[in-house]
Amino acid sequence: MAQAPASPGGDDSTTPIRFGYDEAARALLVEWRDGTASVIPFERLRRACPCAACRGELGLPGRFQQDPRLRPGEDELADIELVGSYGLKAIWADGHDTGIYRYEQLRQLGEAPAGQD
Ligand SMILES: [Zn+2]
Repeated sequence: MAQAPASPGGDDSTTPIRFGYDEAARALLVEWRDGTASVIPFERLRRACPCAACRGELGLPGRFQQDPRLRPGEDELADIELVGSYGLKAIWADGHDTGIYRYEQLRQLGEAPAGQD
């Protein structure tokens, strides 16, 4: 019997097999190889952007620490790109595209309780 290809640095619960959008719910859908699926609202995804500007760097506060309000387009997911075998790049309608979400992070975002954004 053939073995499934190894997934470097991840197990089935953090290996995505398909991405999609739920336009009505304004959420990113991720199907995982372990048979589960995550639904991640765009706003939660945007606020969790892992890039240096959003997280803060060199002692400077991050994007949402300075002003927690969303500006137009900031939580409009325009496109996604896969990055290597480990992550997903989100391209937002306001032009922000420096955040690369590791699959482990997407998994955690999909498991956060609703209403905690
Ligand atoms: Zn960012």
